[in-house]
Amino acid sequence: MKRQSELKGIIEDLKRRLEFEKSMGVARVPVEKKATEETIPKAPGKEPVKTQPKAQTSPEKKDDVIRIEEQIGIFDASAKKMTLEEIRAEIGDCTRCKLHEGRTNLVFGEGNPKARLVFVGEGPGRDEDLQGKPFVGRSGQLLTKIIEAMGLKREDVYICNVVKCCPPENRTPEPDEMATCEQFLFKQVRAIDPVVIVCLGSTAAQSVLKSKLSLGSLRGKFHQFGRAKLMVTYHPAALLRNPNFKKPLWEDMQVVMKELGISKPGD
Ligand code: SF4
Repeated sequence: MKRQSELKGIIEDLKRRLEFEKSMGVARVPVEKKATEETIPKAPGKEPVKTQPKAQTSPEKKDDVIRIEEQIGIFDASAKKMTLEEIRAEIGDCTRCKLHEGRTNLVFGEGNPKARLVFVGEGPGRDEDLQGKPFVGRSGQLLTKIIEAMGLKREDVYICNVVKCCPPENRTPEPDEMATCEQFLFKQVRAIDPVVIVCLGSTAAQSVLKSKLSLGSLRGKFHQFGRAKLMVTYHPAALLRNPNFKKPLWEDMQVVMKELGISKPGD
């Protein structure tokens, strides 16, 4: 029974992945041809060489850095690249998941369409829902301060979320909602092609990196998301609740600044 439900879960994951890749314009899924007894030519008079199956290694365990370009394939050169306007038009008056029921405005994202730095949160809150803009409430004001402390302006970067509609009571977006909506985030990332992505908070990070690791395990180093380097750090809302997170967040931003070649303001 347990095996059956595990198998069902795997098939559903695979189905979602293939549907996503199709929506990204990926027409074919490359299949690795593994060496087997049948594919290894027999030497005359000898028994076929038996190959040992390779150990399955999780990318998360290799060096603690997650690389997900192959899983998502968003930087596949053959995949269709859309503009932000085309992506917004594709979303339309979206009813693809249940979050549409309570929204006032869909919050697509805003900022520089050619930004080198993209911030990704989990989803819009009440203020964002009312204004149709990302990160405009108290957390957003703090994010603006962080951006300015980095020597940048809000208009220099691009800001968006994994889900585009506000969850009821500001709850955390549910896995099925993120799985349905994330295709648009990935298309946005592909359109912008940033150097660095910063995921704000564990929900956004775990969703984008397809990981169950804690924020503490994910932060402090770059992961790889297609062509972009991806840093995980605290959500500004967490800083409002606990100012002790300011120091580690700033350490993460300094790593990002170094990668972008931004010197500290005042240097
Ligand atoms: Fe559509 Fe995303 Fe809004 Fe769900 S959260 S209704 S998928 S735009």
